[in-house]
Amino acid sequence: MKFFLILLLPLALFAKLNIAVSYPYIGALTKSIGGKNINIIVLAKGDWDPHFVVPRPSLISKIRNADGLIINGGQLEIGWLPQLINRGANPKTKVGAKSFLDLSHHIKMILKPKNVDRSGGDIHPDGNPHFHLDPNNILILADTIKRYLSSIDITNSKAYEKNYEIFIKMFKIKIDEWNKKMSNKKGLKVIQFHNNLAYFIKAYGLKNIATIEPLPGIPASSKHIMNLIKLIKKEKPFCILHDVYHSTKTAKYISSKTDIPIVLMPHDINSLDSIKDLTSLFDYLTSALDD
Ligand SMILES: [Zn+2]
Repeated sequence: MKFFLILLLPLALFAKLNIAVSYPYIGALTKSIGGKNINIIVLAKGDWDPHFVVPRPSLISKIRNADGLIINGGQLEIGWLPQLINRGANPKTKVGAKSFLDLSHHIKMILKPKNVDRSGGDIHPDGNPHFHLDPNNILILADTIKRYLSSIDITNSKAYEKNYEIFIKMFKIKIDEWNKKMSNKKGLKVIQFHNNLAYFIKAYGLKNIATIEPLPGIPASSKHIMNLIKLIKKEKPFCILHDVYHSTKTAKYISSKTDIPIVLMPHDINSLDSIKDLTSLFDYLTSALDD
């Protein structure tokens, strides 16, 4: 009996916090700040459509075993996460719990529609929730996550502060590098499939002239496609920026009629094989528009 007690004691003392997160980018950022004191449980895979994750039973058990939950928010998870949280029935991951963090509450969201036509199916009525694709927002989110981890695990708050400082220092150097790389892209016109890159485009002064989806989540009609082709011929955008999870069929048709290329833009870690962390995500995005 004594032998078992001795074995169990250190485990209890050094138990790591299990933090569930909705998307890989949140996992990577939380791991950078949490370091060895936390385990990360990522719910959605990086190459999945972040709007439409299938709420598998395996995800419910992940929620059930978590000590906390961090979500993107801004209704990005509205189609899949609320039911997982309900079925997980874990007080620590409930909306409003101290250990529940909605990152969107700490970011100024852009593109909130003036009139939301829910019957029209706009999936982003609170504004555009893809704010992590502006690297400057990553700095805000890092601070938010540091405060969150320190509030639920005060004993390790010094370690979180230290990890945060190291991360911020590294990331600011990278931001300068990305700013330099993108400085000759100001005013560059682009078309997108879905406005995934709204914050990236704003950060680097690009100009999104249209989306293949007429509204977020709504497929293009043939009339909309014909109008897009006319617009592209007139405005001559550089390319069509496309996410990795929607079919490129419509974009390919438009490309064939207008002669502008399609450029795949990863939205999260592991959305493409080469994207292994936040740094490689932005390294890729800031190189994708080079000739
Ligand atoms: Zn979206």
